[in-house]
Amino acid sequence: MAIKERSAQEDVRLSFDCAADRLGLPQGVCIMLVEPWRELRVSLPVRMDDGRVEVFIGYRVQHNAVRGPYKGGVRYHPHADEDEVRALASLMTWKTALLDIPFGGAKGGIELDPHTLSEAELNRVTRRYTRSIQHLLGPHRDIPAPDMGTNAQTMAWMMDEYGQMHGYNPSVVTGKPVELGGSAGREAATGRGAVFVLTEAMRDLGMQVKGARIAVQGFGNVGSWFARIAHEEGMRIVAVADLNGSVCNANGLDVPALTDYAREHRTVAGFTGGENCRTEDIFSVDCDVFVPAAMENALTEENAWTLPAKLVLEAANHPTTPEADRILRERGIPVLPDILVNGGGVTVSYFEWTQNLQQFSWSEERVNEELHKRIVAAYCAVAKKARETGYTFREAAMDIGVERVARAIELRGFV
Ligand code: NAD
Repeated sequence: MAIKERSAQEDVRLSFDCAADRLGLPQGVCIMLVEPWRELRVSLPVRMDDGRVEVFIGYRVQHNAVRGPYKGGVRYHPHADEDEVRALASLMTWKTALLDIPFGGAKGGIELDPHTLSEAELNRVTRRYTRSIQHLLGPHRDIPAPDMGTNAQTMAWMMDEYGQMHGYNPSVVTGKPVELGGSAGREAATGRGAVFVLTEAMRDLGMQVKGARIAVQGFGNVGSWFARIAHEEGMRIVAVADLNGSVCNANGLDVPALTDYAREHRTVAGFTGGENCRTEDIFSVDCDVFVPAAMENALTEENAWTLPAKLVLEAANHPTTPEADRILRERGIPVLPDILVNGGGVTVSYFEWTQNLQQFSWSEERVNEELHKRIVAAYCAVAKKARETGYTFREAAMDIGVERVARAIELRGFV
C-alpha cells in the first residue's frame, strides 16, 4: 500500500499553485491567496451523559473574505483536524467565486465521531463550539452551514445559541430546518446541483443520460439526494456504497426503496434489492459515471488505473488525489471537479441567506430554477474554457475561481 506523504492542504495547494502559474498572478496576490486570513482552535469541555467531562477540539478557518462574508460548512468527523479544515476552507473560496456568489471561503470542524454521541451530547458540543467561535460569526462576517456529520438540526442549535448572545438572527447559519427559516430545497441542493452538472456534461460529451449506469460512493446527504434525483431523471444507479458495505444491481437499484431502507437502518448494507458487497468493491463496479460523494482521497493511484468508469463526478470535496487525477487524465477519463459539482449546496445557502435578510421565502420551484441557472452557467463557463485552452475541467474551474478572487484583491487595493 503506497504511503500518502502530502497533507490535504498541500494537495489543494498544488492545484492552486498550478492555477497561479497559468494565470501569471503577481507574487503579492499569491501570498494573500495561500495563507488563511484567520484561524481559531478551541477546546470544548462538554459534560457527557454518564457525568464525565470530555474535551473536544474544534476549529474555524477563515480562508478569504475578499468577495464577501466567509462561508463554509462545519464538519463533525474524527479526521476534521486543522490541516483538513484549512484545505476545505480554501476550496470554499474558489467554489463561491466560481459560482459567482458574493461570499468568501471558510470551514469549521470538530474532531469527533457523531455516531458515538447521544443527541443531547451533540447538542451540548454544538452549543459550546458556537459560543467559542461566536465572535467570528455573523450574517455579514461568517455564515456556517452543514457538512459531513452535521445537519439541519446542528444548524438549529447553532442559530439558537448565537441568538441567545446576539439576538434573533437566522441569517447567521444556513441549512437550517425550513420551520426555522431554512430554504425549501436546501437539503437536496448539493445532490440536485450535481445532477444538473452531470446532465449538461453528458450531453456535451455525447453520453446518453437516460439509462446511464452510475455508481455512487457515500449515501449521506449528498450521495442519497444525488441518487434519488438521478434516478428520477432516468439514470440507473447500479451501485451505492457507504462505510458499512455496498449494494449493487446491474439493472439499477430501486432508489426510493433503498432510501427508506437506509433511513431505517442508517446504512445501505443489508438491502435486499441487490447484491451485497464490501465497501471498497464500489471501485470495480462496471459503470458509465463514478460519483465519489463520501470523503477526501477516495480515488488514489491504487484504484484510478482500474476504475471502470467513463466519467468522474466529484460530489464530495477533494475526493481525488493529484496522482489519481493524473492517472485519470492519462486514461482519458474526464473529471468534473468538486468546486463545480457540489456548488449547489452553497448556492442554495446563498438563497437561504438572502431570503432570511429579506424576511421573505421562495417556493421550492423557484429555488430549483435559480440553482439550475447558476450552476449551469458555471458549468458552461468551465466547459468553454476547457474547450478553448485544452485544460482539464479542474484546471479551467480553478482558473476561473482563482482569477475572480485575485481580481477582487486588486480592486480593493490590498496589494
Ligand atoms: P454525510 O455525513 O451526510 O454522509 C457521508 C456518507 O459517506 C455516509 O453515507 C458515509 O457512510 C459515507 N462514507 C464515509 N466514509 C466512507 C468510505 N470510506 N467509503 C464509503 N462510504 C463512506 O456527508 P455529506 O454531507 O453527504 O458530505 C459528503 C461529501 O460532500 C463531503 O466531502 C462534504 O464535504 C461534501 N459536501 C457536502 C455538502 C452538503 O451540503 N452536505 C455540500 C458540499 C460538499
